[in-house]
Amino acid sequence: MVDSDSRRTIAIDLDSVLADTMVIWVEEFNKRNSSSINKDNIISWDISKILEISITEVSDIFTYIWDERWIKWLDFHKIHCDDLLFVYDDAPKTNYPFDILVDDAPINFSQLVHPRIGILFNQPWNKNFTWPIRIDSLSQVINLV
Ligand SMILES: [Mg+2]
Repeated sequence: MVDSDSRRTIAIDLDSVLADTMVIWVEEFNKRNSSSINKDNIISWDISKILEISITEVSDIFTYIWDERWIKWLDFHKIHCDDLLFVYDDAPKTNYPFDILVDDAPINFSQLVHPRIGILFNQPWNKNFTWPIRIDSLSQVINLV
């Protein structure tokens, strides 16, 4: 019998944690702009400033790749989850009922308070953010929770 008080909910960000979305985003950007950047060039959360493009163009590429390239990704990888929530960048993830959050976006940890745990997934755009719990691979989560 499982003690319901000991159960914890873990929320795993899909975009750039579970799926390495920026690799595909960069590929689509390069195709549209005849450029040759890679994911490591995205060293800040604000892609529009790094690449000097509009926020709309950034969003359009995300929308395109999620609609056209990633839509069956979870099924393809046989990833099952209890719930899948789509949260826009300006909606705080802390509004949702989780105990542990694994995410690559520093902003999602800004309102996180004990006993909730935030695990930052290392990406080129969050290297300058100071956070005590960081991982490079999801397999490292098991050792932390
Ligand atoms: Mg993300």
